[in-house]
Amino acid sequence: MTDPQHTTEPGYDIADEYRPEPPQPPPAPLWMDGSIRVGIHTSIAGDIAQALDSAHRLGCNALQIFSLSPRMWPRGSGSRIAETDAARFRARRAELQLGPLVVHDNYLINLASPDPVLRVRSIQAFHDELVRAVALGADFLVAHPGSGRGSSARQAIEEMARALRQATRGLKLDGLRILLENTSGMGTALGARFEELAAILDAAPDLPLGVCLDTAHMFHAGYDIRTEAGLERTVEAIERTVGLDRVFVLHMNDSKTPLGSRVDRHEHIGKGKVGLEAFRRILNHPMLSTKGAHGLAGRAFILETPLEAPGDDRRNVRTLWKLVGMTARQAPGAEDGFSMLRRPAKRKKKTKAATQRAQRARKANRANRAKRAGNRR
Ligand SMILES: [Zn+2]
Ligand SMILES: [Zn+2]
Repeated sequence: MTDPQHTTEPGYDIADEYRPEPPQPPPAPLWMDGSIRVGIHTSIAGDIAQALDSAHRLGCNALQIFSLSPRMWPRGSGSRIAETDAARFRARRAELQLGPLVVHDNYLINLASPDPVLRVRSIQAFHDELVRAVALGADFLVAHPGSGRGSSARQAIEEMARALRQATRGLKLDGLRILLENTSGMGTALGARFEELAAILDAAPDLPLGVCLDTAHMFHAGYDIRTEAGLERTVEAIERTVGLDRVFVLHMNDSKTPLGSRVDRHEHIGKGKVGLEAFRRILNHPMLSTKGAHGLAGRAFILETPLEAPGDDRRNVRTLWKLVGMTARQAPGAEDGFSMLRRPAKRKKKTKAATQRAQRARKANRANRAKRAGNRR
């Protein structure tokens, strides 16, 4: 049946003349083109922009950094990044086409702390983290959910949501999203269960939040991602709680400690208790991979593996690319022999005893470095 009113020619209406075009949504960033994004945590020592070149030379197309030394409380104006440095950083990142850019927050921050002094300090420090991340043009700021110490989980979750709100107050986040990272379940740390992460997200629906899932932490917390069936159960648990569409970053780490250990020690991909095949399944899982129809475009796989010997970083990056079926040559910008850790300069000929002494010293050094690095990200 035709409605006569709709069959008549529309009359000329002067209001149609200069109707402005609806504003175009900003174009999606390049890293959301559906390609696989692989990155590694790179050092900002010396010059922050150097971290970008390190990632590029290691064959990454994404990266994670600290925006300041992660183990001390910054003081006063020292917590800001000079605009000239930030501008140089943003320009170099655009040149190298790296993305997403993930910033990891300071280890000392505890937004769920029941101690009022530590709480205020944490909120201020997290506010500064946000300011720096925005200045650098970061896409994500990863934060540990903190620890309620003596208080109940429910109380800690509420504190956490309130602290996040206070830290973001008055800030223009410019597309920056805060990602809460799952934890190994050491002590009273929040976030070992996906339910707790979901509860924090739900307690602050007004904030741009999301989740970063660390494979080693999941394993430490008792999610058995080693097997196909175990991974399926874990993916289902994620979907039921936080929802996969809120998982923007995966930290890719194998584990030195066993399933359910609650002790956070990272290992090279394929060399730990999780194993290579598990990482192949994760990277190619239709719900996790950016290749799959259900994968989130731009979801990044970021390594936080130990750096104990020169080349450890490069080898782990290569392993991830291999697991998605790409050779090192196809990986973007990979440079043969590059590592963030440099081999100590070679000395002249030595006696056998001196060589053995040096070997022992190197071994002890490596062990110390590994201990200091602590692998607690
Ligand atoms: Zn960790
Ligand atoms: Zn992590």
